[in-house]
Amino acid sequence: MAHGDGKLTQELDPSDHGPRDACGVFGVWAPGEEVSKLTYFGLYALQHRGQESAGIAVGNGDNLLVYKDMGLVSQVFDESTLSTLIGDVAIGHTRYSTTGASEWQNAQPTLGATPAGTVALGHNGNLTNTQELLELVRVRVGSDVGELRYGNTTDTALVTALFGSYAGHTLEEAAAAALAEVKGAFSLVFCDETTLYAARDPQGVRPLVLGRLERGWVVASETAALDIVGASFVREVEPGELITVDEQGLRSRRFAAAEPKGCLFEFVYLARPDTHISGRSVHETRVEIGRRLAKEHPVDADLVIPVPESGTPAAVGYAEASGIPYGMGLVKNSYVGRTFIQPSQTLRQLGIRLKLNPLREIVSGKRLVVVDDSIVRGNTQRALVRMLREAGAAEVHVRISSPPVKWPCFYGIDFASRAELIANGLSTDEICRSIGADSLAYVELDTLIETTTVPKRNLCRACFDGVYPIEPPVAPGKGALEQPALPGLAEGQSGQGCESPDRDGLAESLHMGDPTDGLTTLASSGGAADALRHP
Ligand code: SF4
Repeated sequence: MAHGDGKLTQELDPSDHGPRDACGVFGVWAPGEEVSKLTYFGLYALQHRGQESAGIAVGNGDNLLVYKDMGLVSQVFDESTLSTLIGDVAIGHTRYSTTGASEWQNAQPTLGATPAGTVALGHNGNLTNTQELLELVRVRVGSDVGELRYGNTTDTALVTALFGSYAGHTLEEAAAAALAEVKGAFSLVFCDETTLYAARDPQGVRPLVLGRLERGWVVASETAALDIVGASFVREVEPGELITVDEQGLRSRRFAAAEPKGCLFEFVYLARPDTHISGRSVHETRVEIGRRLAKEHPVDADLVIPVPESGTPAAVGYAEASGIPYGMGLVKNSYVGRTFIQPSQTLRQLGIRLKLNPLREIVSGKRLVVVDDSIVRGNTQRALVRMLREAGAAEVHVRISSPPVKWPCFYGIDFASRAELIANGLSTDEICRSIGADSLAYVELDTLIETTTVPKRNLCRACFDGVYPIEPPVAPGKGALEQPALPGLAEGQSGQGCESPDRDGLAESLHMGDPTDGLTTLASSGGAADALRHP
């Protein structure tokens, strides 16, 4: 009997997954509190940012203990495990890796020795100068250090090794010096036996916020995680800032000047709706996108339905602004959301049926507006349109609350290679025909930007317009850590920090996909390459 590919997934169609964020990071300094349990609940709130492995490191003044494993936060930790993780400071991490070869040793937090002591580190984002950093580490301390020696092929392990390459520095000084050499997207939490640290890249691509407990401090990827542990929001960790929290209080220093370029896609899809970014409610932003979408792309219809759940706020906004009634036309089964999917096409098609089922009585005979957050390869929307027609829909008009995704992300979001992105090769009309809809429209980029209330100059929108605010990585790209340049690394490891612009079945570099991979045309399943073969 054939077995599934072993990947846990909650995608509607595993061959056409939506954008995948990255990782979730959380840290707490609160002597006298149950820091590991606070971290557990913080990670629980950030589970959507990474569902493959989870880990917590706790410092108790003398020692630093890390516990991590593959699986969801609730699968990795239980009461008895948490009861052994006692201390004053803790950090936690939830990870999305990129290939089936995702392995325990690539789970985070990573652990490493520095001249100033031991450090545990968790990372959200992707670095873009990994080769440079590899060389720096190799020259200074050799490549057979820390977790790199044991086959950890993430850029996180590399940053940990970099921290250890500054002789005679305190960890705070070493981190400030090291981070000035690191390029790309990174929201970091790290700790030693006594102290919590948090840092954000100069562009602030990935989010990171600071919160206050009655008797301590918290840092987290999203404000929603502060809410869940009862912390009050203080401010965002600033781009280029390093924060240190210990018994002397909270200190802030800069390792680089701020050049803010926050990720626009966090507003569209990645962040929780109950999170605030740059003072703006993510949920309200999404509803407003829907309202603007209705004004930009109206259509005569009987019912607005969301693709649950990510399309829901924009569908609410579309219905509100258009005056067309809102309804639930698709039911999502949350309980089969995570299942082993057989990698055959037949079962992939069954997969979407298992997870979304149309309400025949609601959609039959109706002219529908179907609102979704994005189209990556187009396979999911094609299956949805077909399903709704089979359920009796008279017309299916698809509205998308983001502009066409045409470019890969090099900063921590896993879309697909450029060749797999349907909007890279096809016009909107061609995509409409490909998915079989009666009409298709996307929100305009400038409109989307306006809804965030963040100035355009302060946002990364590269996956929509191809303007990369940080220079994308250069060769050698894929397989970088499998090369002899770093002999301490195990051959064939799937090197992946948290995320990659390209995954399925491809060997990964330490940090990023081959930059050229996103810029050349490859034969691939789905996307523009074969979209017109599936009208
Ligand atoms: S390329 Fe897109 S997903 Fe990546 S950081 Fe920029 S806006 Fe976000």
